[in-house]
Amino acid sequence: MLKLRFHGRGGQGAKVASRITGTAAFLEGCHVQDFPLYGAERRGAPISAFTRISRGTIMERGVIPNPDITIVMDQTLLSDPQAEPLAGLKKNGVVFINTPDSPAQVKDEYNIDAQVVTLDITNIGLDMLGSPIISTLAGAVASRIVGIGEESLKNAVEKELSKIITDQKLIAKNIEAAIYCFRTLELLKIKTIQTTQRQDSVIRMPFEPAKISTPSINTTASSLLKRTGNWRLFKPFWDHDVCTKCMICVTRCPEGCISLNEQGFPVADYEHCKGCMICAEECPKKGIKAVRESGSDSVEVMGT
Ligand code: SF4
Ligand code: SF4
Repeated sequence: MLKLRFHGRGGQGAKVASRITGTAAFLEGCHVQDFPLYGAERRGAPISAFTRISRGTIMERGVIPNPDITIVMDQTLLSDPQAEPLAGLKKNGVVFINTPDSPAQVKDEYNIDAQVVTLDITNIGLDMLGSPIISTLAGAVASRIVGIGEESLKNAVEKELSKIITDQKLIAKNIEAAIYCFRTLELLKIKTIQTTQRQDSVIRMPFEPAKISTPSINTTASSLLKRTGNWRLFKPFWDHDVCTKCMICVTRCPEGCISLNEQGFPVADYEHCKGCMICAEECPKKGIKAVRESGSDSVEVMGT
């Protein structure tokens, strides 16, 4: 049996990626499980999803604490103590990281004792799909690492996306981008394949006390301490020439991180703005634009 754990942020599509991988394996004739674990889910928050793939009956249930393969859809999760995407990864396992860095760089930086595979799927999403949609691309790299056939991947992407979107052109573009990622990665040898035995012991889920299992991020104090600004791919850019000071963006921001400057125009606290762009969606004047973060080249934002 192969056990995969996907780590992403709310909105990145970790669940869809795990489903695509599971469906592709199912189409290859395997037994499959896939399911997400959202916790206190909100856009940008760390979430995980799980896929088990076996040639025989799968008797295990529950989350996967010791994966053979870990798919990290957002590099910033590697230093997020809430996510811990490398926890329990088997010694001979494989970790995929969505990053422009090489495997050697990442291995060195995060002290990883496993096979590392990297590919900048965010950039591929931007180039081929016109937005940072990476669910199908993460499903494609996972399928490649598992050793699934290209045709099964293609059919799985079509099947799973058809449940979510109706735009056939967008589905076709996703298939094209998924196949591109699939072909870009080398086929790996995974040494940790096991056969499921009916005698497998039952996995016992630990009971978490309410203090751990309920969200505490909503309190003012921890919201301030948790700098969600490092979750951001895009930042909002206000055009104060068209802004009517209606305050809609201020009230709709889920992080509560938009305040008013001395002239009464909205400005964001970029330490905590997670880049969800709900403010831009909600602005009736279309006065907020999404600007791609690009390190020191990022555009100066009015009012900051
Ligand atoms: S300022 Fe806009 S982009 Fe930033 S967290 Fe608030 S709603 Fe999201
Ligand atoms: S929603 Fe738009 S118009 Fe209203 S305050 Fe925000 S930026 Fe200005």
